[in-house]
Amino acid sequence: MNFELRAVPKPKHKRFKRTAKERGRITSEVYEAALERSGGRCERCGKCDYLQCAHLIRRWKVEVETTVNDVAMLCGPSVNTGTCHNIIDYTQAGKEWAEEYRDRLYRRAKINE
Ligand SMILES: [Zn+2]
Repeated sequence: MNFELRAVPKPKHKRFKRTAKERGRITSEVYEAALERSGGRCERCGKCDYLQCAHLIRRWKVEVETTVNDVAMLCGPSVNTGTCHNIIDYTQAGKEWAEEYRDRLYRRAKINE
């Protein structure tokens, strides 16, 4: 019998799935599109001050990459209690709002296809 030692070829791609950080990255295109959609106002409460591009779902839950339907322009900063960005990141009611809003955005995107 002939035994041959063969090295396993290195995978061509470095990583099958992008890291959560990469998937959660908000590109400038996504940011601009979200800002345009928001009309310069918080998409949750309608206020104009200190808008931030907030993830509507946890970064690690993003499948491939963050799209404009995964984010919303919300008033911040997220570290300040009472701002919409803070509410969706840290409260149950806010999380539910974010999920519903994201669903709505995806449904609307489908209709416009
Ligand atoms: Zn707000």
